[in-house]
Amino acid sequence: MSKSIIPALFFLLGASSAMAQADRWQQRVKYDMDIRMDVKNHQFTGKQQLEYTNNSPDTLSRVFYHLQWNAFQPNSMMDVRSRELGKIIIGKDSKGVDRHDWDSRVTDRISKLQPNEIGYQKVRSLTMDGRQQQFRTEETILVVDLDKPILPKTTVTFNMEFDAQVPVQIRRSGRNNKEGVDYSMSQWYPKMAEYDYEGWHPTPYIAREFYGVWGDFDVKITIDKNYVLAATGYLQNPQQIGYGYETKSSKVTRPAGNTLTWHFNAPNVHDFVWAADPDYKHITQPVDGFTAHFFYIENDTTKNTWPQLAKMIPVAYEYIKKHYGAYPYKQYSFIQGGDGGMEYPMATLIMGNGKMDGLYGVAIHEWMHSWYQGMLGTNESLYPWMDEGFTTFAEDNTIGNTVDSLAGKWPHAPSYRNYFALVRSGFEEPISTHADHFNTNYAYSISSYSKGAIFLEQLGYVIGAANRDAGLLRYYQEWRFKHPNANDFIRVMEKQSGIQLDWYLEYMRNTTKHIDYALDSINEVNGKTVVTLRRVGEFPMPIDLQVELKDGRKELHYIPLTIMFGNKPAENADEKRIVHDGWRWTHPTYTLTIDTPISQLKSIDIDPSMRMADVNRNNNKAVDE
Ligand SMILES: [Zn+2]
Repeated sequence: MSKSIIPALFFLLGASSAMAQADRWQQRVKYDMDIRMDVKNHQFTGKQQLEYTNNSPDTLSRVFYHLQWNAFQPNSMMDVRSRELGKIIIGKDSKGVDRHDWDSRVTDRISKLQPNEIGYQKVRSLTMDGRQQQFRTEETILVVDLDKPILPKTTVTFNMEFDAQVPVQIRRSGRNNKEGVDYSMSQWYPKMAEYDYEGWHPTPYIAREFYGVWGDFDVKITIDKNYVLAATGYLQNPQQIGYGYETKSSKVTRPAGNTLTWHFNAPNVHDFVWAADPDYKHITQPVDGFTAHFFYIENDTTKNTWPQLAKMIPVAYEYIKKHYGAYPYKQYSFIQGGDGGMEYPMATLIMGNGKMDGLYGVAIHEWMHSWYQGMLGTNESLYPWMDEGFTTFAEDNTIGNTVDSLAGKWPHAPSYRNYFALVRSGFEEPISTHADHFNTNYAYSISSYSKGAIFLEQLGYVIGAANRDAGLLRYYQEWRFKHPNANDFIRVMEKQSGIQLDWYLEYMRNTTKHIDYALDSINEVNGKTVVTLRRVGEFPMPIDLQVELKDGRKELHYIPLTIMFGNKPAENADEKRIVHDGWRWTHPTYTLTIDTPISQLKSIDIDPSMRMADVNRNNNKAVDE
């Protein structure tokens, strides 16, 4: 009897802990927008109805919208920020010329925009539940002082009329870009700022991060009928506009007149992007469970590269789904946008005229943002490394495992190289710095992309790659659509591994302390080898010490930190592993005994996997020549 009860109890306990869900509340939006685009003067008028649900326990007396196109005006915060960063010299290029810290795509271009080239979003009227509201524009933020507060657990309806001018493309959004795409329409509508357990996030736009409220978008765009549109969401009226049905023209009923209205619907996304060009070629590729769409302007290069990209996506997805979780929507669009690459829900805008490897790289990077920006949606301003860094990690793994010529190469070597260069430069700042407030673009980008990727690769060193990989899937399962923060992430990894990781998060996130371990001394005592290791840097880490014997055998001596309160499992079943007592982080040295005389040893090596971001590897290895 007890035999039958005990397994049942275990099952129940196991089930309840597996079911434990993060219970953070979320605000909710439902946008209905109707846009009329004038392609002669690059302006549009818009009507926006927004159902806003306050799921927070708080009473809201005001709300904030983003008006990001107002950044594209001379003397804006984005303009001045760029020109100030341009004064900082971060090094020299290969020809010995000074490298300025500003984004080479932005530089002082905003300061030179003419009135018909700037971007703007002007709110004409705004009501809440039919009552006119007081609002004012603080450059890229609309501040609305509500006549009545929004109570907890209630929904209100805002109705807005606005008009906008599309800026000449400086970054991401804009018109007439270098690759000849007419309209890259991101950050194009007044967008409610996010309110979460940390309060409002009305972050002025100075070129960087985005943070939004999940909800449903219904968008109608009326535009010159020669244009082809690509967008977040599902096209609702392909037959009416004759789009995608060119070869089945009998089903097409084109309306009369000079314009067409494109109707899109996007469920459960936190932003909406679209792009338009009369010359877009559109191809599709079925992938496991969804369809990938590709929009590009055909030329001698793209007519080969883009169809090839389409064929590579199902192969990449096989790897991605297994390691990072399933893509949850029925459609994803790769859209030529002509300015680097930028991620949006269900779509990306990427430059399209480059070589195949670059196109594949940027496509996979931006698509992986569907996981870390689109679904997990960490506050990118506060945790840019959890977005860009985790995306870079997943991108590098995916590309490294799907491109034959990269087989067997460690995909994260560039991230470590970039990070070590930043350390040497003296520009390093903690990755906890707000994304907008780093002193340099250089420190922001290497901290976010490279150190963020190292955070995960090195975590594999600390808890074992298998635990890290299982933890990433668990993170996706438990936290998607909930805006996790850094602590939420590390708790998942603690639960997955049974190892305490508070120290790891603290050192990686809040400090610029560096890792440096050294072989201090190697002596023979009574026929055994006594090795003393030294922690030279301030950042404590567990140690994998590989010993190679002259007869070819290798053994791994593993020294956890006592503050881990656990050991990582052996990562290589073929290699003998000896687990030693923990290293107390307060102690600068640690001595261990290897049960072999020195004469039989070929080499001793701290962290042969190189996953530990040890800033000085010259003191890691001893070899008997
Ligand atoms: Zn990115």
